[in-house]
Amino acid sequence: MSCSEFDIIRRYFTRQRTDREDVGLGIGDDAALLLPPAGHELALTVDTLVAGVHFPEDTPAMAIGHKALAVNLSDLAAMGAEPAWLGLALSLPNVEHAWLDDFAQGFFHLAQAYEAQLVGGDTTRGPLSITVQAMGFVPRGQALRRHGAQPGDGVFVTGTLGDAAAGLLLRQDGLSASSAAAAALLERLEMPTPRVEAGFALRGLASAAIDISDGLAADLGHILQASTVGAVIDIDALPLSAEFRSLALAEAWQLAASAGDDYELCFTLPATYEAEMLARLSALGCACTRIGEISVDKGLHWRDGAGNQLDLSLGGYEHFAAEGK
Ligand code: ADP
Ligand code: MG
Repeated sequence: MSCSEFDIIRRYFTRQRTDREDVGLGIGDDAALLLPPAGHELALTVDTLVAGVHFPEDTPAMAIGHKALAVNLSDLAAMGAEPAWLGLALSLPNVEHAWLDDFAQGFFHLAQAYEAQLVGGDTTRGPLSITVQAMGFVPRGQALRRHGAQPGDGVFVTGTLGDAAAGLLLRQDGLSASSAAAAALLERLEMPTPRVEAGFALRGLASAAIDISDGLAADLGHILQASTVGAVIDIDALPLSAEFRSLALAEAWQLAASAGDDYELCFTLPATYEAEMLARLSALGCACTRIGEISVDKGLHWRDGAGNQLDLSLGGYEHFAAEGK
């Protein structure tokens, strides 16, 4: 490398203004020293993004910095945890200052939005890969978990589904759209917004929660498995954005049901809490849609508005279904 790893760290990764009181010692020693608040549990998650696997090689560096952090904050959101501390392990093929500058901007812009502080990491030479560790707090016993969904609970999702997958189709498969729709869908793919505030709002209400990183079918499937229940989902209820609809894809619902990378939350909730949940989320400006119900019958069942059973595996986008992470 034309400049040492210490130069890189100093130049790009110590630029954050956030100076949290619960950070005893941040970047610069052999380990960070952190002071978790009393009465809380520490929520910890790690995710790696590998060039060519998790993002196309030509993705802008700012988007990579944003997304590497966003996918981790999304995991904290799904637990109802408040982001606090971050670790960053970077493997870089070479030192490109413009790339590092853009990457750091994307990363810190999002970190700053939640006052989450980068407290350590590792910098090595190798194929481009970014590993972020995010740590956050949740009041003891209040974390949202995958188990706990009960028959009769409603199944809900925040925001809209399928936008990131549509963005990938636009980027890679030459699908065309109006420039406004294309920009919006690409933004969903490259700059996802983690549902952190929605995660807080669901504490004490949701019986189970997960973030949609691998697709609704796969991720709701994890809730069903952990809760030993099933679900019936109404495909006509799946929330689709106007931009997604404008593509008029033949298999729109299959894509919305199976494609990943939207980073919305999927959660379950008893009917008694529904009004309170909707009030809390609408106060945050977070759209939320009831898409079905938890059943005693195991497995994930799809039906349309007329009540017809549908098979997701028939005519689904195997391209995406086979392309889990
Ligand atoms: P060590 O050899 O003791 O592991 P390093 O030389 O790897 O220490 O790192 C020096 C300091 O810089 C440590 O505090 C480490 O946490 C921090 N650091 C290294 N790389 C990064 C990075 N990409 N982002 C933030 N902090 C980093
Ligand atoms: Mg090290």
